[in-house]
Amino acid sequence: MITIKNKKNGQGLKRAVEELSGVDISVCFQCKKCSSGCPVARLTRSRPSEIMRQLHLGAGNELLESDLVWMCASCETCSARCPMGIDVAAVIDALRKLALARGASKQKGNVPLFNRAFLKTVETFGRSYEIGMIAAYKLGTGKLMNDTEKFPAMLKKGKIALLPPRGGDRKTVRRIFKTVKQNKEAKA
Ligand code: SF4
Ligand code: SF4
Repeated sequence: MITIKNKKNGQGLKRAVEELSGVDISVCFQCKKCSSGCPVARLTRSRPSEIMRQLHLGAGNELLESDLVWMCASCETCSARCPMGIDVAAVIDALRKLALARGASKQKGNVPLFNRAFLKTVETFGRSYEIGMIAAYKLGTGKLMNDTEKFPAMLKKGKIALLPPRGGDRKTVRRIFKTVKQNKEAKA
């Protein structure tokens, strides 16, 4: 069910999302192909097509509390399936940016911890390093032994590497992280 709670702020988030994503929300004709292909839609309260409809109807900041904003895997299946060529993934990404910018971030459970662990390994090694990320994440959750039975099979199939990745431009990646931190501090 679609519930628009806040229509006081006129256009709602539509214009801001359109500016950030470059998408024309009004061309969506609610065929729902985006939702039927979305791998996380069965787990979320809102589906991509519903988000599109809510934006069209003038939804405001309440949309930033949608669980899809944080559960979206950025797989872009929705964008690929849309018959109107709408980049639905960019719309969700725009909502994520607005949620952070407006302090409406409601990341659930261990999502922030996972994000921090992932970004820290990228900052340190210049690329993602799964074992480092898993170790940091598990230390944070305190559940060190969860899912360890999968580890030998993943190692055997080459899905995970023991050693950190070589290559990659660590210096450049660190510089990017530093610049982002400085920009954030300057805005604060
Ligand atoms: S697939 Fe495209 S047109 Fe269809 S509901 Fe999703 S965004 Fe709208
Ligand atoms: S990009 Fe996000 S919303 Fe779109 S199909 Fe993938 S998980 Fe679903």
